[in-house]
Amino acid sequence: MDTNPDSSQQDQSMNSSTAGAAEAPKTGWGMDFEVAVCERCDWSYLMPTGSLPQTCPHCFQAHLTSLGEQLQELPYIKPPELCLPFTLSSARLAQSIESFARGIPFAPADLNPKTLQSRLRRVYLPMWLVDAQVKASWQAEAGFDYQVVSHQDRYQDYGGWTSQEVKEGRVRWEPRLGRLDRTYSNIPVPALGEEGRIQSALGAYALDDARPYLPETLSGSFVRLPNRTPEDSWSDAKPAIQQAAAEECGDAASADHIRSFRWSPEFASQNWTLLLLPVYASYYQDDEGKPQPVLLHGRTGRLSGARRASPKRAQSTALSMLAAALVFGLIAMVILLVGIAMPALLAIGVIVLVFALLVGLGAIYPLAAVWWFNRQERPGQI
Ligand SMILES: [Zn+2]
Repeated sequence: MDTNPDSSQQDQSMNSSTAGAAEAPKTGWGMDFEVAVCERCDWSYLMPTGSLPQTCPHCFQAHLTSLGEQLQELPYIKPPELCLPFTLSSARLAQSIESFARGIPFAPADLNPKTLQSRLRRVYLPMWLVDAQVKASWQAEAGFDYQVVSHQDRYQDYGGWTSQEVKEGRVRWEPRLGRLDRTYSNIPVPALGEEGRIQSALGAYALDDARPYLPETLSGSFVRLPNRTPEDSWSDAKPAIQQAAAEECGDAASADHIRSFRWSPEFASQNWTLLLLPVYASYYQDDEGKPQPVLLHGRTGRLSGARRASPKRAQSTALSMLAAALVFGLIAMVILLVGIAMPALLAIGVIVLVFALLVGLGAIYPLAAVWWFNRQERPGQI
């Protein structure tokens, strides 16, 4: 079978850039900017000159160090072609933070929507989109669904023999091979080593709404600079293109499934587009005053962060419960003493005493819940 899907329909409208190291890095952004790095978490940022706080918006634990004019060490510092705008409403943002806090027993007092919103930073994360022309011969096994109908006969004591139709789904596999001449466009490829973790924590981005880069988009925002060049990322692009090709060959063969796809591709005309994705960064302080960073998807509001319960809040709740237990215990003792003279009160005294003991024992719960929660939770820093 010869498969030659038509590539002329592909959207080629996106601008493209050529891979390369930082040449004349200060041009093309359309604004004055500075470049800084966090020496604690090693995230590097580009940001409009003089307008932003100098604390790292990733770990919130270190001041950024300006790189001045020493930009040659950075893997890539050319301006992006595309940008996905922030669209998250403040109501949705507050809702997201509230539901995050609700999932933590005895959440720290600092973890509340108002505080987190007051510390919010806008950060753009980079992603590559690659276009590539591919010529290849391929072979695979194409799977076709079909149903087998059989009949099961059963004997029942009162009904005699009955026959029941049983349908069973099966897949028929057939070998297929062909040639492919195709351009694949806008295949997403990580521009950050940590992108896999970020995407699994925040969810994917729908890229349809990407807009051409305009300098004013970055007003008040940090831009995380790529730590992978197109050359570094090409090894991730090839499997993604192969996956797209396998699916297309399956479609071309009208197959329901495709497996054992093998090909010998020749790639040409690669074009790389840098796209910026929006995230919000903020933090709350735990009991020790240590910032616990949280990241939010800039369009869906999905939130990821370290979840720490507050032992201090648990202790104060436990102390309140113990104090209440003590008060009820004293009341019970008084009633029991009076009950020596008035036996009718003895039963009430015993009930109040049992209640006091239960409240006293219940004081263990806040401490145990917080200890268990903090033990179970893995560090949430991306
Ligand atoms: Zn940092």
